[in-house]
Amino acid sequence: MESIYNKSLNDLEQYFENMGEKKYKATQIFEWLYEKRVTSFQEMTNVKKSVIEQLEKDFIVDRLSIIKIEKDVEVNKYLFELNDKTHVESVLMMHDYGKSLCISSQVGCNMGCKFCESGRLKKVRNLLPSEMLLQIMMIEKEINDRISHIVIMGIGEPFDNYDNVVKFIEIANNSKGLQIGSRHITVSTCGIVPKILEFAKLSYQVNLAISLHGATNEIRDKIMPINKVYNIELLIDAVKKYIDKTNRRVTFEYILLDGINDTSSDAYKLCDLVKGINCYINLIPYNETNHLEFKRSKKSAILKFYDIIKKRNINVTIRKEFGSKISAACGQLRSKKEDV
Ligand code: SAH
Repeated sequence: MESIYNKSLNDLEQYFENMGEKKYKATQIFEWLYEKRVTSFQEMTNVKKSVIEQLEKDFIVDRLSIIKIEKDVEVNKYLFELNDKTHVESVLMMHDYGKSLCISSQVGCNMGCKFCESGRLKKVRNLLPSEMLLQIMMIEKEINDRISHIVIMGIGEPFDNYDNVVKFIEIANNSKGLQIGSRHITVSTCGIVPKILEFAKLSYQVNLAISLHGATNEIRDKIMPINKVYNIELLIDAVKKYIDKTNRRVTFEYILLDGINDTSSDAYKLCDLVKGINCYINLIPYNETNHLEFKRSKKSAILKFYDIIKKRNINVTIRKEFGSKISAACGQLRSKKEDV
């Protein structure tokens, strides 16, 4: 049976109208689910019996199981088991501005980025909106606190699961749903160009991050197979169109990989590429994994790379590091559990 958490407020309004009931019932249901956090329809005491019975026939109020938690300074990592016994993970980061959760959007991933642990398991299936929402809600219950920021940067490519991700954002952002402000939600893509353009048309003011990781086709082709489908010119063109349409600043993520993309010349090429684009660059020291041969850039190379960009007056940060001790890089907890 379908999870009630897959339904947006609009969907439920439609559902009640079709039933010949008043639309406002949808708001009541949302309050029970997302504000009072009940775990059954029976607990919705201001909803009449016939409606409860119908809801019970059509939907379930489901849960996800947390089967493992690893904790370190300012970071917790959670492994979830889904109903079909597949696994995904979420990483909770304690910042001074609030708690931020990195959630997964698919079981496995088909993008095949060479440096990424998640992609070693090919996509098994997309996550439903409910499974993305429940990562947040189960962890909020576990820590007995609210999560203020969401990044869709866990296992999976969100734009390869576009409709479910958009529905998830709608419910997470809704003032009767999880009430997470759109500016506190970030979607990260490896560069699925048509979906970037489609996303630009939506009115959500969420943040878009692009996993760039190379400033030329030569480098991106080597480490990110998606570049063979949508090359860097198409990607940058889509980003420009996105910014024109939304007026939002875009983040470029750039993992620094020793000997691959971290020379001064690479830094200059990156500056030229993003020149004039309303963006900021997030440099990510690579989290090494046991299975993959890539190495983190030397500290001196990271600082030099940063300085070159900074001197060009481009907004740049080096990502604060969380949890490299507790296998917090994408996909590492899952691969430890399943030993693949
Ligand atoms: N598929 C999406 C979102 C998931 S990956 C995307 O590609 O953006 C989230 C980010 O973590 C991406 O920028 C990805 O390239 C990066 N990443 C993957 N493995 C990493 C590792 N071992 N160390 C540091 N960053 C990593």
